[in-house]
Amino acid sequence: MKAAVLEAPRRVSVTDVPDPDAGADVLLRMRAVGLCGSDLHTWSGHHPFRKPPVVLGHEGAGEVVSSGDPRFRPGDRVAVMPALSCWECTRCEAGNPHLCVHKRVPGLGWAGMLSEYFVAPARVLVPLGDQIGYDEGAMIEPVAVGWRATSAVRGGDAVAVLGGGAIGSLAAAISRYRGARTVMVSDVKEHNRAFLTAQGAEVVVDPLASDLVSLGVEASGGDGFDVVVVASGHPSCLAEALALSRPRGQVVLLPMFGGALTVDLNPVVLKEVTVQGSTIYTPADFAAAARLVNTRALDVRPYISDVVPLGHVPDVLLAIDGGADHLKTQIDPAR
Ligand SMILES: [Zn+2]
Ligand SMILES: [Zn+2]
Repeated sequence: MKAAVLEAPRRVSVTDVPDPDAGADVLLRMRAVGLCGSDLHTWSGHHPFRKPPVVLGHEGAGEVVSSGDPRFRPGDRVAVMPALSCWECTRCEAGNPHLCVHKRVPGLGWAGMLSEYFVAPARVLVPLGDQIGYDEGAMIEPVAVGWRATSAVRGGDAVAVLGGGAIGSLAAAISRYRGARTVMVSDVKEHNRAFLTAQGAEVVVDPLASDLVSLGVEASGGDGFDVVVVASGHPSCLAEALALSRPRGQVVLLPMFGGALTVDLNPVVLKEVTVQGSTIYTPADFAAAARLVNTRALDVRPYISDVVPLGHVPDVLLAIDGGADHLKTQIDPAR
């Protein structure tokens, strides 16, 4: 079968690899695989654990070809939760399977999804609703990231999201779904700001053109935001987030930062701010995201900028790295 193999940093080729052996698991023909920031990190050689040679891609949906598990039959349409936990280590037993010591993810102990076929155990597959396209199904993964990152948001909260790419804009929309009274989003890209405004974000800020903190204090009603989600790895975001938090507010960190950051932590002490990391999702988060997408309580279709064939992966990665305007580009390996 064909797969998009990262052979060395910045060098992807779409090439023949051995067909996978499904064994007692489920064989999928992949029909939509989203590219995300972490694929870009892997591509550029900066991902902490995904290293070449590796098949990229971890946000996917496809059609069941064969199944060793009676829960699925050929023709079923599913999305994949791309995290395999052991369910035996102390972290799994404590209810945190997403932090499993032995966790396997696509590109680390498990194949990548940017290939014609992919094998997964039935327990990580989620059926797609009849009306839901594969492209929407492949959005369940990033929605699950946004769902977990906004778990502190309560009805009536003021929420700020720093970074309005795919994850940031989903986090903004999910915050509204969770009942936020106002959502402010900042992004340096005009394309992303226009999208966020069209999607109904109350306040959309270009942090290079205006004073994000003073605008934010005003937008929050004067005392800062209840929850600030950092969805950009830019080094300035952490200090901005601490300044934007209300006393006893929560700052949620999502990105992999490029290196060690130097930041003044006095606001954390003086305002009793909680700084919380958020990494992928639990199976419960993924199920919640699947419900949002399958019911279209969150319509993810506007977030999908483009769907292209597998052969376009090398060019698409170069274009995204070059700053191309897009929110979520997906690959259909069956095209
Ligand atoms: Zn991702
Ligand atoms: Zn475990």
